[in-house]
Amino acid sequence: MRKRRVILLGSTGSIGTSAIKVAANIPDRMEIVGMAARQSAVALAESANRLRPPHLCLVEPAQLPELRRRLNYRPEVFTGEDGLEALARIDGADLVLVAIIGTAGFRPAMGAIETGKDLAVASKEILVMAGEIVMQRAREKGVRVLPVDSEHNAIFQCVEGKPGHHISNLILTASGGPFRTWPAAKLARVTVAEALKHPTWNMGQKITIDSATLFNKGLEMIEARWLFDVPMSRVQVIVHPQSIVHSMVEFVDGSILAQLSHSDMCFPIQYAVTWPDRVPHSLKPLCLSELGRLDFEEPRYDAFPALNLARRAGENGGVLPAILNAANEEAVQAFLQGRIPFPRIWSLVENAMEQVESFARPSLSDIMEADAKARAHVQGELEHH
Ligand code: MG
Repeated sequence: MRKRRVILLGSTGSIGTSAIKVAANIPDRMEIVGMAARQSAVALAESANRLRPPHLCLVEPAQLPELRRRLNYRPEVFTGEDGLEALARIDGADLVLVAIIGTAGFRPAMGAIETGKDLAVASKEILVMAGEIVMQRAREKGVRVLPVDSEHNAIFQCVEGKPGHHISNLILTASGGPFRTWPAAKLARVTVAEALKHPTWNMGQKITIDSATLFNKGLEMIEARWLFDVPMSRVQVIVHPQSIVHSMVEFVDGSILAQLSHSDMCFPIQYAVTWPDRVPHSLKPLCLSELGRLDFEEPRYDAFPALNLARRAGENGGVLPAILNAANEEAVQAFLQGRIPFPRIWSLVENAMEQVESFARPSLSDIMEADAKARAHVQGELEHH
């Protein structure tokens, strides 16, 4: 039996909070030895006082005095973006769970790989923007990249141990979001409150809007392409409104394997931590007869252009996925601020993908530059139209 010593980056967000719950449920398998938060000193101190990890990081230095005042023990405390990377590089840990929003997770993720630690990835940006670089470096260093996103974790469980040539398709399930059945014409009048009401998952604002546009699934298609090293043409999406089947793998002999559970992030987090073992859980068991039925339907590609845009970005690779990702982030912010109608999120992303210079085989700094250019492009569009 192996106990994982885990560094949790992004400990106060929704994934971080679930990870702390998992650690409490399987204490003989998971020990949190490091925790980081951006600025929530109060929340970080509160969970640190309970779990007493020897290392902490609070990225925002202005909040350090608050953190120190509230801690009832004396851990090593890092700060700044450098501190985040330093925490990922410490000795005495073997798994880094990256659950930080945005590109801030890049350097710590690479730091974890360079110091021989396995990586559990919950932040989409790492694999969407830099999937090729991260996966290659992980292979070179002999460390594992364990997916925490529910869809990829499901595929990981289904693929387990089978060689790539056995796989014919990865089938990502999508809830379809709150507008799954809305007529396309009505989407122009979607309000922020309506878009923030997700039918099956409880998540942060950005990802909830992404679930409504289906950009969340689009980003996941790109992630899957890199994580499992399959061409984009073999990454499929099916709408499954109940979010019980978290994804499936179709094999060359025609069999499809699926992974099912309630929609609670504690399931994929626990599996990423205990992999390749399975240990008893204390979550709600799934009762199929209570569910009665599971539904599947084809995505509405024309009404929700995000999937085709993501397919194009994943096929082209290079910096195009980074451009898609950055343009989407800016567009989502503009929508949340009430500055643009809902369908403009798609057109702003498409426009950036066409207008911002794209090229193959980028370095990490090329990717960051493309990210900045795409953001500036969207801001320019917002100002001039
Ligand atoms: Mg997901």
